[in-house]
Amino acid sequence: MWQNFQKRRNFQTVDGKKVGVLALQGDFSLHIKMLNTLGIESKEVKKIEDLKELTHLIIPGGESTTLLNFFQKENWFEPLKDFSRKNKVMGTCAGAILLAEEVENPQQESLKVIPMKIRRNGYGRQVDSFIKKIEKHSFGEKPIEGVFIRAPRIISIKEGVKVLAEINGEPVAVEYKNALALTFHPEVSEEEAVYKYFLRI
Ligand code: GLN
Repeated sequence: MWQNFQKRRNFQTVDGKKVGVLALQGDFSLHIKMLNTLGIESKEVKKIEDLKELTHLIIPGGESTTLLNFFQKENWFEPLKDFSRKNKVMGTCAGAILLAEEVENPQQESLKVIPMKIRRNGYGRQVDSFIKKIEKHSFGEKPIEGVFIRAPRIISIKEGVKVLAEINGEPVAVEYKNALALTFHPEVSEEEAVYKYFLRI
């Protein structure tokens, strides 16, 4: 009985969408909570085979170097790149760093899904973290709150990358083909509009 309940809770699809949240490190549980709020049960992705059958993946914030260590240890690079080519991905903060084609401060490996250059800790250190109302964005009508925690900064974007949100003329959310990258944390300020955009619901 309990097991059945668990099974159901663990994986419910909405319009055939099967959503996973990379759960190796970082604040994945807040993303899962947001998806629950929207009535979407998601799957914690802890192993490469968990990617199978998914249509959407969220790569959460945390520490990109720690995530990279996991990626290197168990060869996540190819499976994740392959997944990103065929399915939808959204990377927030450290997740955005991992999706970028080029990373600086310092330079490090990445999945190279979005042709953009990103600078780690682009606004400074932990004490320079901030919250800013984002008025100009494509997620909906109302302003959203951007929570920037040791956030990266998008330095440059190449052709085909669409800016979805900006502050002071700088992109803080971008889209390229199947991929979204946000330098802030929509799961912290509970910005449902961002998830609805990603899931097209
Ligand atoms: N500064 C972190 C990094 O470089 C990202 C911070 C975050 O995800 N909140 O990976």
